[in-house]
Amino acid sequence: MTVRILDTTLRDGEQTPGVSLSVEQKLMIAETLDKLGVDIIEAGTAISSRGEFEAIKAISESGLKAEICSFARIKFEDIDAAADANADSIFMVAPSSDIHISSKFPGKSKEEIIEMSVQAIEYAKERGLLVEFGGEDASRADFNFILKLYRNAISAKTDRLAFTDTVGVFTPKKAYETMRALRENFDVSVAFHGHDDFGLATSNTVYAVRGGANEVHVAMNGLGERAGNAALEEVVMALEFLYDIKTNINKEMIYPASKLVEKFTRVKVPPNKPVVGENAFTHESGIHTSALLKDTKTYEPISPEIIGRKRSIVLGKHAGRASVEAIMKEMGYRATKDQMREILNRIKDIGDRGKRVTDADIRTIVETVLQIKREKKVELKDLSIVSGVHVMPTASVKLKINGDEVVEAGVGLGPVDAAINAIKKAIQDYADIELVSYHVDAITGGTDALVDVVVQLKKGDRIVTARGARTDIIMASVEAFIEGLNMLIV
Ligand code: MN
Repeated sequence: MTVRILDTTLRDGEQTPGVSLSVEQKLMIAETLDKLGVDIIEAGTAISSRGEFEAIKAISESGLKAEICSFARIKFEDIDAAADANADSIFMVAPSSDIHISSKFPGKSKEEIIEMSVQAIEYAKERGLLVEFGGEDASRADFNFILKLYRNAISAKTDRLAFTDTVGVFTPKKAYETMRALRENFDVSVAFHGHDDFGLATSNTVYAVRGGANEVHVAMNGLGERAGNAALEEVVMALEFLYDIKTNINKEMIYPASKLVEKFTRVKVPPNKPVVGENAFTHESGIHTSALLKDTKTYEPISPEIIGRKRSIVLGKHAGRASVEAIMKEMGYRATKDQMREILNRIKDIGDRGKRVTDADIRTIVETVLQIKREKKVELKDLSIVSGVHVMPTASVKLKINGDEVVEAGVGLGPVDAAINAIKKAIQDYADIELVSYHVDAITGGTDALVDVVVQLKKGDRIVTARGARTDIIMASVEAFIEGLNMLIV
């Protein structure tokens, strides 16, 4: 059996506090959700604003494979807006708990709610819409009323039913039993819509499916009102990998889709979020990483590639020689004892500053250390920089060149320029060196990132490439420059 996925990132997800998406952003997210393989995209609430209407219209007319759905209340104007926006379907809710009935339709009886629902469904069918009908706050409603409401909805020719746990108070057992009861009573597809107020949204949704739900309402990154909806990535991965229940989701698109939604909604995914959080496939500590490198299954339930992301190995304070050696072996490098000590020192140095060291950082550190020659002609003994608002960036250096100590100062357009100019002056009596190119990359995000500087230096017709890697951009630049000098000055 294949469970159908209704993604509500653009409707319930957009109701996340603080989130507001433009029409263009909604369209781009919808295109991504379509590539992700969701069966139904709930694109918004057509009646709620001009922007919502335009977004649903643009998405409906963009030729996506997925069914495009608008949220609607049991009101004709909501149905008209959805139909005018060219939506394929509506997810229409009627208040079903006492508290929702009395606050949304004051003075209306349950009989009147049923009558209004029937008329709304019939009208939506007349307007050519597919109808998925559900009671809102159904999990707090009298179940006998739900059965009666749904029986009438079926008579009015609703295409599908949905059961909503609007305030997230269901438990897995109730979700399972309720879905069983609904499927026993009704012959149409039944969906489950769950919220995460008690952290049970994924469990409830999975148990709803086990109880017979044919469709689930989920949102990317678990966005949604309050604590959010059931997270698409969690529900899909749990269904497929733990229960062997299929979906139409292209799993390698999960991570890219998560990143796009994170970027546009500006709701940062917590690092420890299952499946898509930064730490979900990141490993730290020596023992873990060395076992992991022998067989990734030791500490990973699934491979990160399945969901379109990569494993990240972090060696902070716990950097062990074994894990660094294992990574180096994988990279095809061998180091001497001295080089190994230097590599470990540099890794620990970053770790001690509270910064994580990724495998990309390690690769850069290893490559930098391995290029350092044993015998140095040029050595940096001291460096100081002055830079600020009213001063010309100025550097003074003390170098040891062929055994002589040379002190020089230089100015420049910036601190790096000043430092390089000072070094150039210091070495001018020893060699005529030209800086051909200078390139800088931050290996990982953040102002505390490891900075990788690659320089090309020229002496006569000989050009060498050298690199420096430090968290300090000036030190990385100077290191790269001096390493280059050591290659050129014989
Ligand atoms: Mn909801």
